[in-house]
Amino acid sequence: MRVIAIDGPAGSGKSTVARAVAERLGLEYLDTGAMYRAVAFAVLRAGGDPADAAFAASVARTIALEVGPDRVTVDGTDATVEIRGLAVTRAVSAVAANPDVRAELVARQRDWAAKRGGGVLEGRDIGTVVFPDAELKVYLTAEPDERALRRAREADGLDYGAVAADLIRRDRIDSTRRADPLTAAEDAVRIDTTGLSVAEVVAAVTDRL
Ligand code: C5P
Repeated sequence: MRVIAIDGPAGSGKSTVARAVAERLGLEYLDTGAMYRAVAFAVLRAGGDPADAAFAASVARTIALEVGPDRVTVDGTDATVEIRGLAVTRAVSAVAANPDVRAELVARQRDWAAKRGGGVLEGRDIGTVVFPDAELKVYLTAEPDERALRRAREADGLDYGAVAADLIRRDRIDSTRRADPLTAAEDAVRIDTTGLSVAEVVAAVTDRL
């Protein structure tokens, strides 16, 4: 099984780079952040509290989740746009800190790769937890200013200050939570993407294969 793990904080360039690397290698790509977002979306849609651990865990175990490269559906409803919205972005870190939610989604991520004979997976814990034996582990970083700028550009209409504050808040929760915190695997290739083009980062990744 050929697995490439790409981890890093929000706005480090993971999604763009993971998609390009997958295409280059003829592998499929999985955005695991979209899975955590989809669970947060389903919790909110059911009127639940993202901090209610038992409820979020039962939602994670029972929802039908399809995460494709361009479309995310939750129980048959297209949630592609909503999972990127403010409400979900605010709720997702609490949901992702829940060990039972993580256990369920990690199992689904391993299944996804097993069915395909591998793939390029991006997230926060792919190289440390989901696939510690991945063929290549990459940890992307970028200066906080650049990460906020990238996210503000992606999310049309969002104000830079609000995006920057949200990134700092999520980095803090994601890095300090007890269950599988955001951290680089010891054997990960670290790439600071600040000021680099997508092509340069993709080349830096594929050169290591
Ligand atoms: O990558 P993205 O910013 O869409 O991820 C949303 C949230 O999902 C992150 O802030 C983090 O809390 C969570 N996440 C995670 N583990 C992953 C991927 C995402 O905890 N593998």
